[in-house]
Amino acid sequence: MRTIQLHIRSSLPKNLEPLWDLARNVWWSWNSNAINLFRRIDPQEYEASGPCPLKLLNTLPSSTWENLKEDNGFLEHLNEVYNEFKNYLENGVTKVTDYNPANKIAYFSMEFGLHESILLYSGGLGVLSGDHLKTASDLCLPLVAVGLFYSEGYFRQNLNSDGWQNENYDPNDPFYLPMQLVTESTNKPLLIDVNIAGETVYSQIWKLNVGRIPLFLLDTNVRENSYESRNITSRLYSGGQELRIQQEIVLGVGGIKALQKLNISPAVYHLNEGHSAFLTLERISQFIKKGLNWQEALIATKGTQIFTVHTPVPAGNDAFPIQMLSKYLGNIFEKYGISDEEFYNLGRSPDNHSEFSMPVFALRTSGHRNGVSQLHKKVSKKIWKPLWPTLTENEIPINGITNGVHTRTWLCNELVELFDFYLGKGWDAKLNEPNIWKRVENIPNSELWNVHLNRKSRLISTIPKSELSAEYLTIGFARRFASYKRGHLIFRNIDRLKKILLNSEKPVQLIISGKAHPADNLGKEIIQKVVKSIQNEKLSSRIIFLENYDMHIAQKLVRGVDVWLNTPIRPLEASGTSGIKVALNGGLNFSILDGWWDEAFDPDLGWSIGNREEVLNENNRDDRDAVSLYDTLEYEIIPLYYSSKIPTEWIEKMKKSISVLTPKFSAHRMLADYISKSYLPAAKFHENWSIHSDGQIESLKKHINNVQFLKEKWKEVQITRTELKPSDTVIVGENVSLQLEIHSPFPENWLEVSLVLENSDNMYGISDRKDVNLVFVETDPTHNQFIYAIDLETKNPEIRTYTIRVCPNPIIFPEHLDLDLVAR
Ligand SMILES: *Cc1c(COP(=O)(O)O)cnc(C)c1O
Repeated sequence: MRTIQLHIRSSLPKNLEPLWDLARNVWWSWNSNAINLFRRIDPQEYEASGPCPLKLLNTLPSSTWENLKEDNGFLEHLNEVYNEFKNYLENGVTKVTDYNPANKIAYFSMEFGLHESILLYSGGLGVLSGDHLKTASDLCLPLVAVGLFYSEGYFRQNLNSDGWQNENYDPNDPFYLPMQLVTESTNKPLLIDVNIAGETVYSQIWKLNVGRIPLFLLDTNVRENSYESRNITSRLYSGGQELRIQQEIVLGVGGIKALQKLNISPAVYHLNEGHSAFLTLERISQFIKKGLNWQEALIATKGTQIFTVHTPVPAGNDAFPIQMLSKYLGNIFEKYGISDEEFYNLGRSPDNHSEFSMPVFALRTSGHRNGVSQLHKKVSKKIWKPLWPTLTENEIPINGITNGVHTRTWLCNELVELFDFYLGKGWDAKLNEPNIWKRVENIPNSELWNVHLNRKSRLISTIPKSELSAEYLTIGFARRFASYKRGHLIFRNIDRLKKILLNSEKPVQLIISGKAHPADNLGKEIIQKVVKSIQNEKLSSRIIFLENYDMHIAQKLVRGVDVWLNTPIRPLEASGTSGIKVALNGGLNFSILDGWWDEAFDPDLGWSIGNREEVLNENNRDDRDAVSLYDTLEYEIIPLYYSSKIPTEWIEKMKKSISVLTPKFSAHRMLADYISKSYLPAAKFHENWSIHSDGQIESLKKHINNVQFLKEKWKEVQITRTELKPSDTVIVGENVSLQLEIHSPFPENWLEVSLVLENSDNMYGISDRKDVNLVFVETDPTHNQFIYAIDLETKNPEIRTYTIRVCPNPIIFPEHLDLDLVAR
């Protein structure tokens, strides 16, 4: 059977045409004025459409538009929103001042969570990417993003009567999405091609508008491809490893080719998780075409590449059998001039030679790396230490950049208005300035409490047929049902749970939501256990499981609950972000000290569960955490909430939590960290060698020669004298100066000389490093001797042990710690 599809677009009266522009940019979704504009066209149809403005515009009958075109109130509103939009496209919310707009950043991710009507995400990783783009847009950062267009996206969840998860797929219809196909001058779709196991696979490219930021989505569903290849980009995280490696080749290799075809030459490449790491291969190919060899090209690639690792375990699931690589990547030696083994070794972790791990490959080929919270940084240093055998754990070159959220996306409209009033309009330009946020204290308790109760009522009214009540203390728990998240922990002592929830004077209710990955039967069993416990224990008056957790449900929950519960096994939650979304809406966090909460927690802001001690026996650990959970709930949280009709102490806690956590965990702060720790150093490397203008490949070669020279002569570097003045024993307050004499065959600015103060904090035996750099003082060039010095403060009586470390200067050699050149 042959079918053919005809899309018929609405025709809007001339004065309503700006609606098209607004509908074709996701910007509307985080601006309440724009949301209200689309909603007032037809509130019911608005909700029924997704909400999805392009669908709304393309389904309403022409009579609607005939009426609206003469509705002055609507026209004024439209005009106002349209001006806001145009102004935003011009100026963003604020401008970062310290980043050169010529240095474009290419951001790669397997998923993007922008809005519930755009099915390009599964969970936290995608929502983080979406928030990254929205914030880059707010800050006028020169960023372009690359991902895949999934015609069916991720699955929709429903549960059968037995509590077992079923998966269904809905189409992601391009006709209704805020994006356009990129075409050539002839109006034909622009195609790029990649080689997948010997077959040429084509992709067309969609451009989706996220405020000022373009998101380019590769789509293999084109006539030129075989039936199988057309389906490569059908679904997110579905199918086996073969399909996964095909998708990752399209994303990585295809993504670089797409940028090239679009005439975009980024200075900096950011890989959000390892799925896109094959992009390294295409970047290296391009350098090889310009005359570098593999080793040289790798140096050039690495200096400008940033990798954000998300997994907290070495055996992440993004790894392929080595044979699969040879099938897909073809003859490595012919293409790159290195042996297969040399290449495979880049993706092998020392303890697993049969697999090629994408995170390992990305760690080895990106010169700037980070985990997603401070705890995750420490854990990452520990688990990836085998990749840098000569470094100490402290020195493992992985930064910590804690995740943040896009405030406007997650904050409820009523609080936007309160903030406008009490903090002053323009607060969203100063999201990471803690001082502004102190003004939250000025919001009258009753006003904040009323907003909160309203939001809670709204949440509960959208859960049909439930016996929940807006008067009751309401706890939310929503996340992916992976077993480490322990979705069933709160059911561990069912009698105690029942006693707490069913208490008639101080009732407590629980709203649970979350999907398990389609292949994760353990996760599905946990969901089933939860649902069965609710049924069998007659708890349905107090516990509701909401099906199909997505950004819409997340928004409702984070804006309406009193308390947000999180019970992962420490330290497996790399960051987590849902609790941050709750905090800025005035909800209080109640969580294991893991991920972002490990660094955010303070008794003034919320509650902890368990403690930081590691318990190896699973049962003991879960018992400890469950008891702590029930105790804190019963003796602290419930009494505080029910202390009076308007619980002053509770509201004070809400205010503290909003004012401290909103700036600190905003994506604005996160982007500022990426700029200073990763984007700027990478862009600097790019500028130093101008590695994309062909004529200057020579200056890059000079750098590569310097690296070779470093490697050859490094063994001559020696610390020849250390001296503490006046002496190695002093009295508190007395100044001490440390002088070092170093023998080195290199120019003085090639070296970084630092002191590493060992300071064990006993968390998994990981020590916290405070290093200080010594300053170059003078030189004796005839003997290649250099003197470095530093003054040390002596505030407390103690015995300190410093390790002296000499390594290549990271400003000149961004790959400095990967060179295995450290003198101690
Ligand atoms: C924020 C969000 C997440 C991530 O939350 P975690 O705290 O990491 O569980 C996942 N899914 C959706 C739909 C979200 O909005």
